[in-house]
Amino acid sequence: MTSVKPPVLPAPANWSGTADFETRDPALGLVVGRYAFASPGDVTQVLEIAGKGFAAWSALTVNQRCDLLGDWLSRIEAETPALAGEMTDEQGKPLAEATAEIGKSLREARQMLGFARSHGGQTLPGRAPGWSNTILRRPRGVVLAITPWNFPVLTPLRKLVPALAAGNAVVLKPSEYTPAAAMRLVRAAEGLLPQGALCLVNGAGEVASGLVAAQVDAISFTGSVATGRKIGAVAGGNLVPVSLELGGKNAVIVDRVADLEPALDAIIGAAFQCSGQRCTAISRVIAQTEVYDAVRHGLIARMQGLIAGPGRDAKTTLGPITTQAQLDRITHLVRAAELEGATVLTGGRRLAPDSAPEGLFFEPTLLASDDPANPAVQDEIFGPVLTLSRYDGDDAALRLANATAYGLTGAIFTDRLDFARRAMNELQSGMIHVNHGTAPDDNMPFVGIRASGLGTGSVGPSTLDFYTTEHAAYQAG
Ligand code: NAD
Repeated sequence: MTSVKPPVLPAPANWSGTADFETRDPALGLVVGRYAFASPGDVTQVLEIAGKGFAAWSALTVNQRCDLLGDWLSRIEAETPALAGEMTDEQGKPLAEATAEIGKSLREARQMLGFARSHGGQTLPGRAPGWSNTILRRPRGVVLAITPWNFPVLTPLRKLVPALAAGNAVVLKPSEYTPAAAMRLVRAAEGLLPQGALCLVNGAGEVASGLVAAQVDAISFTGSVATGRKIGAVAGGNLVPVSLELGGKNAVIVDRVADLEPALDAIIGAAFQCSGQRCTAISRVIAQTEVYDAVRHGLIARMQGLIAGPGRDAKTTLGPITTQAQLDRITHLVRAAELEGATVLTGGRRLAPDSAPEGLFFEPTLLASDDPANPAVQDEIFGPVLTLSRYDGDDAALRLANATAYGLTGAIFTDRLDFARRAMNELQSGMIHVNHGTAPDDNMPFVGIRASGLGTGSVGPSTLDFYTTEHAAYQAG
């Protein structure tokens, strides 16, 4: 078990060393870390340190910054086994998933450094011969990054790397449930980056809202819609640019003309990785009537083959739910769905695997409902729960897929080119996958629309636009 950790990195001189929060392994219930939360005084102090860090860091050239960040990524890579273990212990995901998350994060981050080296201005002809007009991009200053608990390495790095490469200082406030992985990331930068260029503040919502209310230069948030709305309101009042990556209620359409076996394998992977605690998890399957029964049987068979257990057990393919509150929410939403007419086809209850009888597990669950208003079809459950609905006709499929407030990921399995084309143009989601599962690629924007997101996405080259200001500079003669 780790001991009490300072509330702020770099650690403040006046740190008292008291613990405010314990993190627990959600499979085994053991305490795995004790953390102190930052005080309002710590928040003021860290923002001052970050301001100084910005001055030193932004004075470097972009190539110098990217070289140093490349070294930082190599240090993180060398710590992969320890980092993956911490992720499994505090978040619960199987060790293989944690290791894969680190690998993907590093590939994306290295790709981002490549984008950053060539991101920047453009020179255009001026008003008279020999004059020039230059579009410049400059770092914003101190960026606040607030992250959730489901991807403790991927989500922070998607913010830290583009923000730092563009020349900003960053203050990271990781989820209170997964601070160890975030602290390891920040510590790996010690001695490489100037003091204050990358800071971390530990705490829950109160600490985070104190940071949001303080005058920072940009805010990048990933988390729930409810918290995103609060942050957006405060940022709007302070006229601070904000990027919000929020929830999802992602649908997959299975057409009558589709290669069913690979489609079902892809759906299971997209729905149950991280026990469904992913904003991009497929949570609604919309099957054409002719293939509905085959889809139902195929999903149930695959779901019953998942092996629930602790993430450090190599056999485990379904880890625990990360928090008791999340497990309670899943249980409540499944009950509400049943009361509103959904039928449980498999699962539906808390699970107690032999290897972790006290753990926070939920059965892989398939709910049948043809009612688009059913709570399980409308609300983000963020757990191992899929709904299955039937449709007839392409119009009905697209209408059902678009019938929620969200717009993160949409998927379709079809061998009909015309239907695939329609889906590409008509699915109301930031990311669209045709015969593809829902895993995003390392060089493509990760972006949500409607209730799923506001502002530029992360991952692709346009991410750097958010972390820079644009200037029109005119030079005569
Ligand atoms: P959450 O909104 O409860 O918390 C996210 C972060 O915000 C945490 O660090 C938390 O401490 C902080 N926070 C809480 N209250 C705050 C406040 N008033 N002001 C500022 N910050 C505050 O979300 P969660 O439960 O940690 O994560 C699950 C949610 O995140 C799901 O809805 C999921 O869909 C979403 N998510 C979205 C993406 C995406 O890229 N679109 C990725 C992962 C998770």
